[in-house]
Amino acid sequence: MSNDIEIVRTVADLRQRLTAWRQDGLTVGLVPTMGALHDGHFSLVEQAVQSNDRTITSLFVNPKQFGSTEDLDVYPRDEATDVAALAARDVDLLFAPNVEEMYPDSAVTAITVPGIGDVLEGAFRPGFFTGVATVVAKLLIQSLPDRAYFGEKDYQQLCVIKRLTKDLDLPIDIAGCPIVREPDGLALSSRNAYLNAGERQAAPALHQTLVSSGDALAKGAAVAASVSAATAELLKAGFTKVDYIAVCDPASLEELEKVSGQARLLAAAWLGKTRLIDNIAIEI
Ligand code: AMP
Repeated sequence: MSNDIEIVRTVADLRQRLTAWRQDGLTVGLVPTMGALHDGHFSLVEQAVQSNDRTITSLFVNPKQFGSTEDLDVYPRDEATDVAALAARDVDLLFAPNVEEMYPDSAVTAITVPGIGDVLEGAFRPGFFTGVATVVAKLLIQSLPDRAYFGEKDYQQLCVIKRLTKDLDLPIDIAGCPIVREPDGLALSSRNAYLNAGERQAAPALHQTLVSSGDALAKGAAVAASVSAATAELLKAGFTKVDYIAVCDPASLEELEKVSGQARLLAAAWLGKTRLIDNIAIEI
């Protein structure tokens, strides 16, 4: 049984629905997405539905977070399938604005989160986190949910969003949700659709390498040696380029030269034209 889902495309309509819910004293959860939904997204949705009276999913492929050489034009889009899947999971409202609604008059204001937004992904994708932070800040302000849900799949993004929420005094609880993986360990991602058969076979090596590297660190291996070994392992497995493998403080994302206590091991690497990211928690 699926419930009815309402699709709204303007901020004004979104606010009207939210005002009514607030007047009825209902709590609201928001799950921002770029569509092409999979079980990773659905795990966020299910948590939101469980913990809130009403759940909104947003679907917006945000041009501001794509570089000029990136995949904006070919990014997978299938709104009808996404809507049916969200309705089946009891989502109440889909907010699916177009670019003009989200950025009227070519809006110029941007949110930048220096430091935590400049390293790792930020270093390899200049402007990416400004694009993410700007659109997420807008979505949060437009809907003012009680809680908003983000996946640890994009771990740095989660850290950036927690930071901006705190810095901008947004009264919203940011919930991080665990990574959903294929049985072979590959983290679910809309971009996995780009992988050809050979690349798909090689792809789980990213997670396997993180796990083996984490084990080596736990046994006392040095960070630099573990990172070099992991890089070599990925290239041997068929990855064509490694952007980074880094051991970081789990909150500040500062790179660590030595690990004691909790850390996050993060990586980005290419299989042909497809760039994959992944991360795991480690504790020593
Ligand atoms: P996206 O549509 O790629 O912008 O992702 C929307 C949200 O889903 C983000 O908060 C992602 O971190 C989250 N997400 C994407 N893939 C996964 C996954 N495999 N496991 C958990 N969360 C995910």
